[in-house]
Amino acid sequence: MMTHAAYDCDVLVIGGGIVGLSTAYAITRTAPGTRVTVLEKEWGPARHQTGRNSGVIHSGIYYPPGSLKARYAVRGAAELVDFCAEHGIAHAVTGKLIVATSRGELPRLHALVQRGRAHGLPVREFGPAQIAEYEPEVRGVAAIRVGTTGVCDFTAVAVRFAAEVSASGGQIRYGAEVVAVDRRPWGVAVRTSDGQVVRARVLVNCAGLHSDRVARLAGDDPGARIVPFRGEYYELARPELVRGLVYPVPDPAFPFLGVHLTRGVDGTVHVGPNAVPALAREGYGPTVVHPRELAATLAWPGSWRIARRHWRYGAGEVHRSLSKSAFTRAVQRLLPEVTEADLRPSPAGVRAQAVLRDGTLVDDFLIRDAPHTVHVLNAPSPAATASLPIGREVARRALQRARATGWTPPAVESGHCV
Ligand SMILES: Cc1cc2nc3c(=O)[nH]c(=O)nc-3n(C[C@H](O)[C@H](O)[C@H](O)COP(=O)(O)OP(=O)(O)OC[C@H]3O[C@@H](n4cnc5c(N)ncnc54)[C@H](O)[C@@H]3O)c2cc1C
Repeated sequence: MMTHAAYDCDVLVIGGGIVGLSTAYAITRTAPGTRVTVLEKEWGPARHQTGRNSGVIHSGIYYPPGSLKARYAVRGAAELVDFCAEHGIAHAVTGKLIVATSRGELPRLHALVQRGRAHGLPVREFGPAQIAEYEPEVRGVAAIRVGTTGVCDFTAVAVRFAAEVSASGGQIRYGAEVVAVDRRPWGVAVRTSDGQVVRARVLVNCAGLHSDRVARLAGDDPGARIVPFRGEYYELARPELVRGLVYPVPDPAFPFLGVHLTRGVDGTVHVGPNAVPALAREGYGPTVVHPRELAATLAWPGSWRIARRHWRYGAGEVHRSLSKSAFTRAVQRLLPEVTEADLRPSPAGVRAQAVLRDGTLVDDFLIRDAPHTVHVLNAPSPAATASLPIGREVARRALQRARATGWTPPAVESGHCV
């Protein structure tokens, strides 16, 4: 058994996105004095999914009752609004319209009303006249308004989590990419690309687009691969065309798809994202190719199975990605006034979507733990909204795993990791 002093820290978190930082924050709150270190490969927090998304505080209406997504989004949205208010972070609870543009979409819209009410959400049904009252330029045959949806600055939330962790004695190291993990009977030793070694009782993997690779480095089989899907946006040159958040009725098979209109906290309106296969895990442009990552994606049987199953949908997304006029036509179904000239390219994000060997897209959040490790293997949207409850759950599991090494929660705050 190692002595307490021989560990550099009790819990080592890999990944300084919103999930890793929320986990570290939850540890400092639930077990003050626990020595926690976060290793992030970039030179600051939130440089990947957390800093490249739609900035929407989701209500939870889309997700099946009982799923982690539904439970954590409904609770997380309310907690996030309180967190932003407490810490002076830009946010607004604007509500959102989900708009049916054809009668064929009405049964799915009505099903969403039922689901929203089952989740206890404030949902109102609108006809065309009420749509025009809220969004004069938006056209639809019917809509619903979900009152608890909002917008916020997720990068600022992540930065605040980091500041709170540091203030509680935790350590956050940037420019520290984990390249090797050595699993021992007493815990884990990780090595960073600059040759530093950190020994911990428990490793928490919140590496987002690289979470499956980190799990394998630690000797655990993730059972899935991250398949990266780029989400491209345009910025609306005439933001006055949209007052708030406007979404199409989702396809139940792909609730995260469907180009939407989002007025952010800074008043800019973004149109998007689509979902096209990315040729690198951090492939933010169509020409970014990482041959080794691409080969690994293609070697995973699940990638081919999704391609075979969903090629028609995928082809439509790729077409709208390559053709701005096709993209514009898709937006015009909701916003007839928009023209190609109104759409200016804006930075893209890449979703970390876990895919099983049989081609199933993992729908719910997926957290797995084993002796000395906790892995967050699927944390797509709405994980930013749900970051507070997810962080608490990951922290709970990490502390449970730490106890199995003989660790006990400190009675008093006791400084930080070396
Ligand atoms: C286009 C798009 C739109 C979205 N819109 C919304 C939305 O409106 N609302 C919402 O709630 N959610 C949204 N999401 C989802 C949300 O952004 C993610 O669920 C959330 O940011 C996931 O956070 P994370 O910390 O798991 O991942 P990330 O933010 O990707 O963080 C993972 C971190 O791990 C680091 N890392 C990886 N490997 C290593 C390593 N070996 N060593 C050290 N560090 C490593 C990375 O550098 C990165 O900083 C959207 C996502 C995308 C892509």
